[in-house]
Amino acid sequence: MSGEPTGKKGKGTIFVLNEVCKGCSFCIDFCPPKCLAFSREYNRKGYHYPVLASPEACTGCDLCGLYCPDYAIYGVRYKDLEKRAPATGGA
Ligand code: SF4
Ligand code: SF4
Repeated sequence: MSGEPTGKKGKGTIFVLNEVCKGCSFCIDFCPPKCLAFSREYNRKGYHYPVLASPEACTGCDLCGLYCPDYAIYGVRYKDLEKRAPATGGA
């Protein structure tokens, strides 16, 4: 399982590199709305990784990303994601 959004939508979401995570819990501890929780599953290194337990509460502030020592998580605001989405339609 990845940290991709499920169910209700908040103002933002997270992306998690499950296999990079070392399970330190900084992201979970420092998330202002406390919307992260550890996965039930383990990654290949034997660590639980964060999942978005309350997607409706995530603001996309990226504090989780700022605190992660391993760059294994980042948060984005949906409005920023939309801005970054290619608007040209490709070739
Ligand atoms: S982006 Fe912000 S609100 Fe969302 S999980 Fe990370 S710290 Fe929490
Ligand atoms: S801060 Fe990074 S390494 Fe620590 S639990 Fe969160 S995602 Fe994993």
